[in-house]
Amino acid sequence: MTTSKRRKPFALWLGAALLLALSVLAVVAPIIWGDSAAALSSEVRGGPSAEHLLGTDPLGRDVLDRTLVAARLTLAMAAVTTLIAVGGGIVLGATIVVAGRRVRGLGERLIDLMIAYPPIIVALSITAIFRPSVGSVVVAIGLAFVPQFARLTNTLASSVSSKDYVVVARLVGLRPTRLLFRHVIPNLAGPLLVLTSVGFASAIITLSGLSFIGLGVQEPSYDWGRLLAQALQDLGVNPIEAFGPGIAILITGLAAGLLGDGLNQFLDPRGPVRRRRRRRAATSGGADARTPHAALLAPAPDAVVSVRDLTIAASPESVGAPLVRGVSLDVRAGEILGIVGESGSGKSLTAMAIARLLAPGLHWSAETLSINGADVSDAREQTPVRLATDVGVVFQDPSSCFNPARHVGPQITEVARVHQGLSKRAANELAIERLREARVSSPEVRMRQYPHELSGGMRQRAMIAMALLTSPSLLIADEPTTALDVTVQADVLQLLHRISTTRNMAIVLISHDIKVVSTLCHRVCVMYAGRIVEELTVEDLREGRVCHPYTRALLDAAPRLEPSARQVPLIPLPGRPPQPDQPIVGCAFADRCPLVTDRCRQEDPALRALPRGGVAACHVSTGPLEDLLVTQ
Ligand code: SF4
Repeated sequence: MTTSKRRKPFALWLGAALLLALSVLAVVAPIIWGDSAAALSSEVRGGPSAEHLLGTDPLGRDVLDRTLVAARLTLAMAAVTTLIAVGGGIVLGATIVVAGRRVRGLGERLIDLMIAYPPIIVALSITAIFRPSVGSVVVAIGLAFVPQFARLTNTLASSVSSKDYVVVARLVGLRPTRLLFRHVIPNLAGPLLVLTSVGFASAIITLSGLSFIGLGVQEPSYDWGRLLAQALQDLGVNPIEAFGPGIAILITGLAAGLLGDGLNQFLDPRGPVRRRRRRRAATSGGADARTPHAALLAPAPDAVVSVRDLTIAASPESVGAPLVRGVSLDVRAGEILGIVGESGSGKSLTAMAIARLLAPGLHWSAETLSINGADVSDAREQTPVRLATDVGVVFQDPSSCFNPARHVGPQITEVARVHQGLSKRAANELAIERLREARVSSPEVRMRQYPHELSGGMRQRAMIAMALLTSPSLLIADEPTTALDVTVQADVLQLLHRISTTRNMAIVLISHDIKVVSTLCHRVCVMYAGRIVEELTVEDLREGRVCHPYTRALLDAAPRLEPSARQVPLIPLPGRPPQPDQPIVGCAFADRCPLVTDRCRQEDPALRALPRGGVAACHVSTGPLEDLLVTQ
């Protein structure tokens, strides 16, 4: 078992100690030195002496005493100003994030507009309108800093909301308030605390600046800014007079900065100050080959997932072609279906549509979308529980799938506790079992670690364990090996193969790497420009018996490891896929295809069954492509 021990950083200690000392001073100084600070003497503009360590002002008052007494008003004003700025900013920023799309857009434009004006200008304008006083100056500067905090909160919350671990939490079906407090707010705390401390320091300086130019605190009250303004008038005669308030402002700003920096290090679980004993235990570690393409058939009754005519568009009014066009597929128990294609081919969107995890704003429809025979194709209907327990998702980047601010264990057990009602102990035991199944070493230890304490391969295995927790019948693995190094890739692929076999689980594997899918899958769908252009068995793919020119081009561009093929030069894929905002006329591959004909440029080819089995969408090729290319 490992334990986590936090050591507070030196900056945190120093910043907190300085601010505490300043706070104590602010309370006691007016009581102890209030009278002496107001006492007049004949020694005007005097230099340092035993009686007046920092000299006297033009009325003979002790500068050190006045500096000490001014701490209360200065710090109180800065604290209230920061409270207004931070509170207002967080409320405004968070409200905009949770508001609807229109309100969000309007709110973000408003913040952009407000932030274009420097806070000091805004504060000057407000105090110039109202009579300068302690109250008006505090409110003015507080309001002037609100847009900065609102922007930071808005940016951070938006960024956290799009993280994979928030997507996973949504898949789990966590309520928005729980999502906000468990996953979003904890990840905002560090940066907001840092900005709060910086805001406090800025408030001190801005308040002092306004007092300096006569728009801040008015006589007989005085803060450090006002003392500094007085001292600067006498700079040529008595320069030491500016030393007291000047150094007080400097120390307070420094203390606030140190505290913020120290808090950020302390609260960040990935920061260098969280020391843990790391125990690095050694890592312990088919379908019918001739299945015809789903588009040509009614949904298979034994399919775990059936999709017919899936279409996804950026918006119903978008001018370009849909992002996914008429995709149909079936995956049966124990089968691994690979979906391969370049970036933007629509493979990940297809997978996310099956899991009902498409990004907000995308519009989709399907004639059939069923999981275990249950229709989940109604885009308006929310079926989070079924999807959370029937579908497991493994994302590309394991480091973004886990909330960095929480231990791994509670994140893995969340779905079992929310949807299966398991007790904490039962959910923990189940999670440990799944981690063991995913070959995560020392699972009890990993449960108590933060995600950053696990290696990349270990995190990916933990993600797979999390996806397996509820024993789903379908696992969607979206580029699960792309972020891993080669040796770990092989491990993860082996693990997925073992899971498919031992659990008789249907797996959809998304990859841009045709070699990865040919290693692991039983059947492969090749996608290009949002549609399936060829479906074939892995045997045909491995043997190079491909029909569509795009599949051929993917194979030719991929390195081959067999000794006999090492001398074969790689052929890069020419050109680029069509842009999403461009309408597609004819075959989308026409501009890159060596077999293109006039018909290809006018008519989009339909999927056709091939004599050797499988299907392809091509006007010219209906069989192994070598024959055609040789005769060209
Ligand atoms: S339809 Fe024409 S352009 Fe498209 S892949 Fe076939 S031969 Fe090439």
